[in-house]
Amino acid sequence: MRYHKIPDEAVWRLPIYLRGLLFLAEQGRQSVSSKDLADFLGVNPSQIRKDFSYFGDFGTPGVGYKTETLIKQIKKILKLDVVHKTALVGVGNLGSAVLAYPGLRIYGLDIAAAFDNNPKKIGKRVENLTIEDVSNLGTLRRRGIDLGIIAVPADAAQKMADGLVKAGVKGILNFSPCYIEVPKKVKVVSIDIAMDLARLPYYMRAS
Ligand code: NAD
Repeated sequence: MRYHKIPDEAVWRLPIYLRGLLFLAEQGRQSVSSKDLADFLGVNPSQIRKDFSYFGDFGTPGVGYKTETLIKQIKKILKLDVVHKTALVGVGNLGSAVLAYPGLRIYGLDIAAAFDNNPKKIGKRVENLTIEDVSNLGTLRRRGIDLGIIAVPADAAQKMADGLVKAGVKGILNFSPCYIEVPKKVKVVSIDIAMDLARLPYYMRAS
């Protein structure tokens, strides 16, 4: 199913809703209203209803949605109803923390390969993976890996992005503090905790 003219912001909020719903489902909540979800997440219920409306009929507003059905729908929209194998490039401080982070599994994401160029790291076991030589990036396509995470220093990031794209990766999560160029068919999401932290002072109130 393709959805047209859906604002990026709505798509970006879906994983937030999904995480909230998964938590509520774990607590045994079989149905949930937009208000319940909004209260739980600290957002506006009308925003949730508006976002859901972009994707068609999710249930009866006001009455509530079946939690499991909603979870399934959102996973389908985000294409998380199939497992996406992911490759991590750069197993340093940040890369190691990402590998150890259990939160990825909530979304059915699986880091299936880890690469580095440091001979002292290549061949070492980390979590349940053996760190591979980055020169093996070309094996990703035949291993069914379609997402990549870049956690190398900025000066190596573009080269890693090129390698991932050449290996058939369709989406890249970029942790390096630089802009990387990729063909239009590939989606890049960049994350920088410094940028997020830099937003906070604006919202601070004088006590
Ligand atoms: P690090 O030095 O601990 O790790 C970098 C790893 O990349 C090392 O294992 C190194 O051997 C490997 N590497 C270097 N060049 C490579 C190449 N050409 N091919 C393959 N592997 C290569 O650094 P770190 O602290 O883990 O940071 C990694 C990146 O993440 C940096 O770009 C850093 O600026 C960035 N960072 C981002 C955030 C964020 O919030 N986005 C936070 C911390 C760090």
